[in-house]
Parts: sequence; structure tokens; C-alpha cells
Amino acid sequence: MANWFKFRLTLVLITLVALSTLSFRKEKEVNAFVSNSSWGFFGHKRINRIATFTLPPEMFGFYKEHIEYLTEHAVDPDKRRYAVKGEAECHFIDIDHYVINGQNPFDVVPRNWYKAVEKFTEDTLHAYGIVPWHIQVMKSKLQKAFENKNVDLILKYSADIGHYIADAHVPLHTTENYNGQMTGQRGIHGLWESRLVEINAEDYDYFIGKGTYIKNPLNFTWEAVQQSHYALDSVLRFEKELTAQFPSDKKYSYEQRGNVTVQTYSYEFSQAYHKMLDGMVERRLRAAILAVGSFWYTAWVDAGQPDLSKLQNVPPSPELLKELEELDALYKKGEQKGRDCDH
Ligand SMILES: [Zn+2]
Repeated sequence: MANWFKFRLTLVLITLVALSTLSFRKEKEVNAFVSNSSWGFFGHKRINRIATFTLPPEMFGFYKEHIEYLTEHAVDPDKRRYAVKGEAECHFIDIDHYVINGQNPFDVVPRNWYKAVEKFTEDTLHAYGIVPWHIQVMKSKLQKAFENKNVDLILKYSADIGHYIADAHVPLHTTENYNGQMTGQRGIHGLWESRLVEINAEDYDYFIGKGTYIKNPLNFTWEAVQQSHYALDSVLRFEKELTAQFPSDKKYSYEQRGNVTVQTYSYEFSQAYHKMLDGMVERRLRAAILAVGSFWYTAWVDAGQPDLSKLQNVPPSPELLKELEELDALYKKGEQKGRDCDH
């Protein structure tokens, strides 16, 4: 059984790599220093996909049936940044903006939305990112979708919440210095969450275990953000240390993507950095996968555990698919609303 599962998982991974490579090439990236997606499209797709395997049997059949949807649409929230004003802030929280006199920002910012609004105003919170609270909104929406047994919305919100939870697991999504722009390390965002993942994802361990019920989703999310933020110091420091000792003409390499030549971090530099991080990227990726599965599971339990086998063999509606095609078209037109790049 374990071997069979491993074989199936390997097949799934091979397909995924093929698909992701394809979609990566389709991206209209002109400068590899500016990754236009958190975790890269590759990482987000993988997180949602593998999260399916953390679900209990009562949920697995339904999610497995829609695994292509959940994979493909793991990146919709990033595309929505091109269509919807106010979307960008849902992907991050610049928690260090709230540091005063060296205080731990997690002691400064109330976890509760209303208390945080009272302390800092809604405008400030929106300006510096709302990902921990947005995940709660998405969780309620997903729960409602389960209660109403609405297949379209279960799919849509499952894919979406997976994206935001994954973002909350990225250290550079918790800082104002989100692309190293304040410390002369511009490009580090894409290096950490796209380049390193794309090179090393096949070596990661995807036996994640089963998702569990989350008693307090808000605290759970804040703890994930906190862990991300505590890893930030290493993310920035190691890159700086490595740059200082690495031959400067070997740090970058050039790749041909379509008609465009892009500068990117060299394989050697990327791997030396990955090694210094000592498993951090894999740990954050695995934690994100387990968190996504656990949130899906929790929303379903809180909705009263509806029988998902009754919802099987219902494809997403043509209306939903049309809506998402339109989103894709806006994304391809490429006028981003809100903060540019990397969040
Ligand atoms: Zn994002």
C-alpha cells in the first residue's frame, strides 16, 4: 500500500513538474529579479496539490477528483492582483513596520482584527498587509460553501485559501524589506521562493502526514506568520554573507526565455545559498502544505462534515470557468493594481 502510494505520488510529481515547467515558460517575465508571484507559480501549485494527500478519506475522494483544478487555480489570487484593487495587501503583512524601540512586533500588533484596527486604524493595516486576517475571512467563506454544498465555491475558496496560507509561510512576506530593496539585496524574494524551490523541489520529502483540526485558526495563522518572520534574519544575512565570499562574476547567469534574455541567480550561487539555509525552504513548504490541508479539513468539520461523496462527479460550472478565464486574460494584459512585484 505504501509503495503504491509512493508510486502514485511520484507520478503526480512528474506530471506536476512537466506542467509547472510549461506554465513557467509561459510567464511573461522580463526580469528574473522581479518574481511576479509569491512562492512562484510552481511552489503554489505544488502546495495545493500535495495538500490534497493530507486529507481524511471522507474528503480525499472529492479533492482528488478536482486535484487539477486546485493545482491550476492555486495562483488565482496572484492573478487577481491584476484585476482587483485591494487584492495585493491580502498576500502579506509587513510586521516589522510596527517595531518601535526594538519591541517584538508580535507583542505590539493585536491578533484580533478589531483590536488591531482600534490601535492602528484600518487604513494602516491595509497599507502594511492583512494576510493573517484575510485567511480567517477565507476560512469562513469556505465553511459556508461546505454548508451550502456549493461545489463551485468549495473549489474556488479551497484553491484561494491555499494560496494565502502558503504566502503566510514565506519569510519575505512578513517584512517591508520584502525584496531586499532596503539592504542592497534586490531580487532575493524570487531567489528564495521561486528559484530555490524550482531547482530543489524534487529532493524534498512530501510525506507530510495528515491534516489536523485547528482549534483556533487565528492563533494558528499568527504562529505561522511568526515562524516565517523569525526565519527572516537568516534569509537576509546568509545571502549577504554568501555574496561577500562568492566570486562576483559567478553570482548571476543568463537564461533565454522566449525572445528575452533574463538575468538570474546562477545555479551555483542558488545551491550554495540553499545549503546555507539548511532545509529552511523545505521546512516552510512542508509546513504550508500541512496548514493548507488542515484548514480545508477544519472548514469542513466546522460546516458539520457534509457528505462530499454526494458532490462528486459535478464539474466546476461553465460560469466559474468563464470567470476564471476572464481573470487570466486580465492577468495576461498585465496591469497590476497595488504594490508592484513580489507580494
Ligand atoms: Zn500571493
